[in-house]
Amino acid sequence: MRFSSCYIPTLKESPADAEVVSHKLLLRAGMVRRLTSGLYIYLPLGLKIIDKIANVVREEVNASGFQELLMPMVQPADLWKETGRWEHYGKELLRFKDRNEREYCLGPTHEEVITDLVRGEVRSYRQLPVRLYQIQSKFRDEIRPRFGLMRGREFMMKDGYSFDADSAGAEQSYKLMYDAYTRIFRRLGLKFRAVEADTGSIGGNFSHEFMVLADTGEDTIAFCHDCDYAANVERAEVVWKGAPCAVACPEHEKVATPGAHSVEEVAAMLRVPAAAIVKTMLFNVDGKTVAVLVRGDREVNDIKLKNLLKAQDVDLAGAATVEALTHAPVGFAGPVGLDVPIYADLELQGATDYVTGANAADAHFKHVDLRRDAVITAWADLRAITAEDVCPRCGGRIELTKGIEVGHIFMLGLKYSEAMHAAFLDENGKEQLMIMGCYGIGVSRVAASAIEQNHDENGIVFPPPVAPFECILLNLDPRNADVTAKAEEIYAMLQGLGVDVLLDDREERPGVKFKDADLLGAPMQLVVGGKGLARGIVECKDRRSGEKGELSVEDIEEGFS
Ligand code: ATP
Ligand code: MG
Ligand code: MG
Ligand code: MG
Repeated sequence: MRFSSCYIPTLKESPADAEVVSHKLLLRAGMVRRLTSGLYIYLPLGLKIIDKIANVVREEVNASGFQELLMPMVQPADLWKETGRWEHYGKELLRFKDRNEREYCLGPTHEEVITDLVRGEVRSYRQLPVRLYQIQSKFRDEIRPRFGLMRGREFMMKDGYSFDADSAGAEQSYKLMYDAYTRIFRRLGLKFRAVEADTGSIGGNFSHEFMVLADTGEDTIAFCHDCDYAANVERAEVVWKGAPCAVACPEHEKVATPGAHSVEEVAAMLRVPAAAIVKTMLFNVDGKTVAVLVRGDREVNDIKLKNLLKAQDVDLAGAATVEALTHAPVGFAGPVGLDVPIYADLELQGATDYVTGANAADAHFKHVDLRRDAVITAWADLRAITAEDVCPRCGGRIELTKGIEVGHIFMLGLKYSEAMHAAFLDENGKEQLMIMGCYGIGVSRVAASAIEQNHDENGIVFPPPVAPFECILLNLDPRNADVTAKAEEIYAMLQGLGVDVLLDDREERPGVKFKDADLLGAPMQLVVGGKGLARGIVECKDRRSGEKGELSVEDIEEGFS
């Protein structure tokens, strides 16, 4: 490609509203432009990067035996009503109606659609496993879209789904994806770590997140120096300090212990739908352990909410509070978004026995004043979780580090197949439910993460598999016929070798070209100028090490062959 005829609108200055380095550099390098909050245009170079990442994902996922398909981004509400997520997913789900008043949403994920597809077609165990994936734009109406591609509202995701006849098969599907993800992030040249994770609003039995290690990460990972334990602290919280965790039920008699009881069992005790329980927070109040169930919005996670209660000086040891909490195991049911008072969103189905919106305003709750403004003010003061807050499994030393969630795999179990009746006949002709898994990679977030991990003060230093070009060739003096002829000769030679090369043939000062070459981050720079040419050489620079050298055209040819 020739720079002069490409749309690469580089910027000299960092745009003021960009906070993290990947956002700044993606804008400066002319790779993306913001349309409006959380919506980005991928300019040609940005799209090239996305395609490169998507292709590595494709190759590895295909190699694992998953097949690519493409589902509509628009999804009918009926399917989401079948699983209960129409109600429970919260405001991230963008809902709308068509001209016939039929309800739809923009897909934030595709469990419902793919389960509908497979249940309509697969009848026998002989047709299983079914392993499919797509790479597509997702829409989530994020409460705080920010950091450019890192947390967009519309973003690119690879989402895969598996349907198996038995748990051994399901575990194999899960492992295939775990291994594929490991290969993908390795190939992309990222420093990453797989960690145990919470299942959030996707749900399921267990999950792993793939975290790119970076200080700008929004997640905190706990890992042990002495064993292979590594977890997102959202999950570490569940085993927080190894406390005799228990969940109080409305009648104050049944007690569930995480680990010993599934979410479904806890939900049954509380007589609320399992989908209503996203998280449990456990408080030790006056020697009793009291649970607060949080639903809906994953932003309000255990740690944040617990610290929020502390920051609000909620006297957890106070009798009134104990009373209020023990009477209200769903009393702090989380808001969907932060736009309702934190304890007023109590209309969980079947939760009529518990504290209602009306008595939420009673004296006990008044002193736990967590109304919207308070929540938002307190947000800034949340104490960060420390290594002491986590329970090492082996007694070893725990360290915390920041990570960016680039991938997430879930063992869904029967969650969707049960709700949507995705069944098949086994060898004995008996009906069984399919066991599902789902597997996401934030393709556009991977692009941002690659830049977070690979940059310097001059710009991006792409790992080769992500770089929009393998090589940038600078013609320092386009008006000089000899220089131009040599640059063109090398350009044609590299193209002939199949090298992805950008020829900077613009009528610009050398300084501008050097700056842009560094900014764009191609791993190798070749510089054709009058002085070098007089000595029969071309200068080269390795973008990462900054190491410079001199090459003849033959050396270049050999180097890229
Ligand atoms: P997060 O915790 O960052 O909100 P998530 O857990 O909600 O992410 P998943 O439902 O696990 O996301 O989706 C699979 C992958 O999609 C994530 O691992 C992440 O890489 C990517 N992803 C999720 N939300 C966004 C977003 N708003 N912008 C860009 N990528 C995203
Ligand atoms: Mg999310
Ligand atoms: Mg997450
Ligand atoms: Mg996730």
